[in-house]
Amino acid sequence: MMKRPIVELSDCIRCEVCVAACPAAFRMNDAGFVEVIDLSAYPDDEVNEAIRDCPADCIRWEEE
Ligand code: SF4
Repeated sequence: MMKRPIVELSDCIRCEVCVAACPAAFRMNDAGFVEVIDLSAYPDDEVNEAIRDCPADCIRWEEE
């Protein structure tokens, strides 16, 4: 089963901690919001680090 990280944008404070933890999966878009980059597989350890360190606790895995 495919899993991908989801960001709850309404809770996101745009601190960019997730981008620093896992630049392969997270980026800030031109509007200044976090975007999850489309990948066929996500690096578990780095995404888990972003989930753990997100100060707003607004990243989670979603199974597809
Ligand atoms: S770490 Fe969390 S609060 Fe910070 S930009 Fe990423 S998703 Fe938003």
